[in-house]
Amino acid sequence: MPFSSFIGNERVKQLLLRLISERRIGQGLIFSGPRGVGKYQFALTLAQALNCESCTDGDPCGKCPVCHRIAAGEHLDVRFVSPDGQFIKIAQTRELSLEAQFRPYEGRHRVIIVDEADRLRIEASNSILKTLEEPPELSLIVLVTSKPYALLETIRSRCQRVNFGPLTESELESYLIGIARTSDKARLLARLARGSIGTALAIDLDEYLDKRRVMMELLDAYFVQRDTVRLIKAAEYLGKKLEKDEFINHVDVLMTLLSDLFHLKLGKPAESLINVDIADRLERAAEPATIEAIASLVERLENVLLGLARNLSRQIAMEAALVA
Ligand SMILES: [Zn+2]
Repeated sequence: MPFSSFIGNERVKQLLLRLISERRIGQGLIFSGPRGVGKYQFALTLAQALNCESCTDGDPCGKCPVCHRIAAGEHLDVRFVSPDGQFIKIAQTRELSLEAQFRPYEGRHRVIIVDEADRLRIEASNSILKTLEEPPELSLIVLVTSKPYALLETIRSRCQRVNFGPLTESELESYLIGIARTSDKARLLARLARGSIGTALAIDLDEYLDKRRVMMELLDAYFVQRDTVRLIKAAEYLGKKLEKDEFINHVDVLMTLLSDLFHLKLGKPAESLINVDIADRLERAAEPATIEAIASLVERLENVLLGLARNLSRQIAMEAALVA
């Protein structure tokens, strides 16, 4: 995929295109930034740009056999490393560090992309460091990470850092509109994902909406109707009928609703809410609620989540939180 088709991180795009065009790409890069904003995809495109048969101003075509082979992981000069289990081990990097010393086999530029580079074991880090210390001219190592501080200082000092940011809400929305079908849903998804395409793609919006319906009723019972019987029933449903993971997911959804209520109470505009599509309903629930009551419910729910580690009864804990 050419750089020009990426959404977001314009500054990074321009920087990379310039470095490629001016042949100043260097031998070590750190792509750092939040998860799910396209760092890995950028690294892949960079590898294509350095080898593509018909680049335009540094941007690869994405269509030639070379671009295809790189995207498919079949190009001999573009190698990928990611954690095997919890870590990236020396066995995974030793061979690549050796290979890096030779001229490219079939392309113009050898590229090694290390994903989640913060999980390099120390021996593996050292083998990468060795390559960076005596960098072969036509080899590039790209270290992709959301935790750059976890890399060895000696590695960091030998690499150029490229910082990625989260996507803006409108960038993410325009990307998601094709997936979420309606603009309302795209907007909701963009807000839930907080600037990360990866997070947005992992959210099942229909599931979220189902949970939100249940939790919104709970909020109405809590703040508007003050209906103890319904709250006890809700605690039973959440605590007894649902598996632990599902229970946590429901409480997380409840937290997004409470954070919206909180913002409304602080006088923030409805347009700024996460659940902006049900702003009217949230405003009705917020009316009888006080900031203190919202904050105290949030605190009690956080304690319920903390208590899960101690295997307390979820039903009893939830009941205590809701009928306090
Ligand atoms: Zn190409």
